[in-house]
Amino acid sequence: MAILKITEYPEKVLAEVGMPVTVFDDELADLCADMFETMYAAEGVGLAAPQIGLNLRLFVMDCEDVKLIAANPEILATEGEQSSQEGCLSIGKVPAVVVRPQKAKLRAQDEKGEWFEREAEGYAARAFIHETDHCNGKLFIDHLPKLRRDMVVKRFKKEKNWK
Ligand SMILES: [Zn+2]
Repeated sequence: MAILKITEYPEKVLAEVGMPVTVFDDELADLCADMFETMYAAEGVGLAAPQIGLNLRLFVMDCEDVKLIAANPEILATEGEQSSQEGCLSIGKVPAVVVRPQKAKLRAQDEKGEWFEREAEGYAARAFIHETDHCNGKLFIDHLPKLRRDMVVKRFKKEKNWK
């Protein structure tokens, strides 16, 4: 296993719609193992393929009681509303309050290509949606009003010591 380099905002791959996963082989299983290792090392609860520079519809997560691999994920249904802090490993975990559905139903394929559906609520539902967004080239800051988005980016740039 290996810890991979995490791509950061504003790298282009983070804004691209991912390509579908079509091959479910040992290489994919190894990639997912590396993604889990990278996610744990960064103390994150989810990591999507664009965050390691791959333009693929794939994510891994381990959030509360939900640990899974999701290839070609889609959010089938959502319910309710929650408002709490969210951050992203690709934006230096700078937190911002994002309104999200309270519950979400995910449909995806596992590393063997088997389709599954899984429901979650609270933090795990938030992770379903955050990671599926990554596969669609969308970041959590895209859900923020412009002023708050600018503040997150500014703080991230400051932490990164950008000029
Ligand atoms: Zn993220």
